[in-house]
Amino acid sequence: MADFDTAATPGFDGGKADAAELQAERSARLAELQEMLYANWKAAGDHRSVLLVLQGMDAAGKGGIVKHVVGAVNPMGVRYTAFGRPTEEELAHHFLWRIRRALPPAGHIGVFDRSHYEDVLIVRVHNLVPPEVWEPRYDEINAFERELVDAGTTLVKVAMFISLGRQKEQLLERLDDPTKHWKYNPGDVDERQHWPRYQEAYQAMLERTSTEYAPWHMLPADRRWYGRLAVTELLIAALEALGLSWPPADFDVEAERKRLLTT
Ligand code: AMP
Ligand code: MG
Repeated sequence: MADFDTAATPGFDGGKADAAELQAERSARLAELQEMLYANWKAAGDHRSVLLVLQGMDAAGKGGIVKHVVGAVNPMGVRYTAFGRPTEEELAHHFLWRIRRALPPAGHIGVFDRSHYEDVLIVRVHNLVPPEVWEPRYDEINAFERELVDAGTTLVKVAMFISLGRQKEQLLERLDDPTKHWKYNPGDVDERQHWPRYQEAYQAMLERTSTEYAPWHMLPADRRWYGRLAVTELLIAALEALGLSWPPADFDVEAERKRLLTT
């Protein structure tokens, strides 16, 4: 992670303007595939689903991915959940309890804005529970994700990385713009003090929970437009791998046409 270039745009030669054009085209493709996933569940009982897991420091751009990438598809087929500080009730349960309750139903794309990984990130950095408790969570998470994949959920795990300097710019932008004050949290400034420990926690997360069945994608997120394009491509790839097509009618189309025309 120390060598990771958060301003890079791997796999894309163009700039922001070229990205906008491609984004429109690829968003349309994503929307089509999502509708196909939904249609196959609705019309043919296909039980599969996709789960996008977004992790990243404050102002890394998770909200922008939700707004612009997920926002390009039909909300009917999306199950979105943001995970903040656990409630009393959630804390009284195993850390995966609230996660299980938010899993996408068949035919849907689930979106986790933060996730079970907070339980090995902020929890580890701030010692919210002792190491004996968070340490075994890496293996628990791997077992949990294995279970999800075996049950037909494709995981798309995206860790978004911005530089400390870029984060400062983003937070300043929030302060400078009254329409963005709602996104600003004074605590985010304090978290900046813990940057090295977060880097360490992210490194451990990547090393211990990137599996062959649910790999992590490290996303250079300094350039917003690149992140959107990249996540769009990751979702398209995940959906294309399902080999979907439009479900055939389970009725006689011609007979139905005749019947309808006589009404
Ligand atoms: P935001 O995503 O800006 O709404 O912030 C949500 C906050 O909740 C972040 O500071 C997260 O680190 C924190 N959070 C999320 N999950 C947990 C958790 N399991 N334990 C403690 N804090 C968490
Ligand atoms: Mg925040």
